[in-house]
Amino acid sequence: MKQLFTLVLTLFISFNCFAQANLNRCGTFNAIQFREQQQPGYLARTQACFENAKQIADANKANRSGSDTVYRVQMVFHVVYNSALENIPDSVIYSQLEVLNEDYRRLNADTARTRSEFLPVAGDPHIEFVLATTDPDGNTTTGITRTPGSGSFIGYSPFADDVKKEPGGKAPWPTDRYVNVWVCNIFFGIVLGYSYPPSNAPNWDSLSLSTDSALQGVALHYAAVGRNFSQPIDQTVAGGRTLTHELGHYFGLRHIWGDSTGCNNDDGINDTPYASDASQQTCDTVINSCPDAPTDFHDMIENYMDYSDDRCVNMFTKEQIGLIHAMLQTSRAGVATVVTGTGIKNAENNFETIQLFPNPSTGTIYLNAQVKNGKNYSYEIYNAIGEKLTGENNLTSSSNHRSIYLSAQPSGIYFAKITCDEQVVVKKFQLVR
Ligand SMILES: [Zn+2]
Repeated sequence: MKQLFTLVLTLFISFNCFAQANLNRCGTFNAIQFREQQQPGYLARTQACFENAKQIADANKANRSGSDTVYRVQMVFHVVYNSALENIPDSVIYSQLEVLNEDYRRLNADTARTRSEFLPVAGDPHIEFVLATTDPDGNTTTGITRTPGSGSFIGYSPFADDVKKEPGGKAPWPTDRYVNVWVCNIFFGIVLGYSYPPSNAPNWDSLSLSTDSALQGVALHYAAVGRNFSQPIDQTVAGGRTLTHELGHYFGLRHIWGDSTGCNNDDGINDTPYASDASQQTCDTVINSCPDAPTDFHDMIENYMDYSDDRCVNMFTKEQIGLIHAMLQTSRAGVATVVTGTGIKNAENNFETIQLFPNPSTGTIYLNAQVKNGKNYSYEIYNAIGEKLTGENNLTSSSNHRSIYLSAQPSGIYFAKITCDEQVVVKKFQLVR
């Protein structure tokens, strides 16, 4: 077992580490260190959880190849805002789901940029993400909540954990059933996101676990959500990969360079090469900062758990995926359902056709959805700020060409969310007066 969490705890716990000119892609390491100061023993619990999952992953290894198990993870996005800019529209969150469902199924177009030396270890994580459709009280939900924030969480602590508390922020939905993502202005926009790795290792005291549970999830800077190229943020992080990275931490993965400079630290994962440091937002395909044996590899700048530009990262390794799956079978089991052989890749085939026309429309829009195998489908129409305008349930292919009357609505962008067997397809359209 390679050495984990060997760093001097207090070294990085200062505001100075955030006060750099460049964006800080990830606050997870600092957040973990800060928690250890507040709750001594936290690091040991986290490491015990990692090692437990490693053992399970190693045991699973023999069965992993060829498995078609798909994990479906339900998410809720809590938008806690202090300005209209921070109150990001649903469309940006939908684009974030698209990014996750590409990256965690290796359906992303830039897999073509994975260098050949890493193709043998690059894998499909077999995880898909859906917005929750039922809230903790059993009511129908869009999976998105919106809360005017007090602003007190910004700068109030080194991290944004106050955004997870009321008043001022938004309390989590049960973190053992939902992946909570808080979207806010983290620390004056310097940190793009952070999350806590699983720390509910077996046989640890329940008191410490209860203090952990309300903080589990991801805090994400509002401008780092989705494919959000219009926001005033560095283009190197505009591809929605911040959440791909932070969910990696949420599922127990660590930075591939081991969070400390030099070649003696590692992430505890065997098929990621050693690297002496983060590849700071570069796409340097020449760099090889540490030797590996028996084969020496370049630094794996393609890995989502590096700090590379969103335009360079495109892969998880099979061992990283094995660890994530082990967490989904243990510490994170509650947030996922197992779908065997019918992931999003296949479920898209539920629909023969989805047409929405005319687009743009002057008031009435027609939906033609043809569904296979006599299944039912439903649709909902939302405006750009996420208000549901209308919808219908239990439709079949024979009731095609639904007429949707929107003449009372102003000009603008709208979204149709069409659902079949929990498979959601979102289409954008425009009303023009
Ligand atoms: Zn990170």
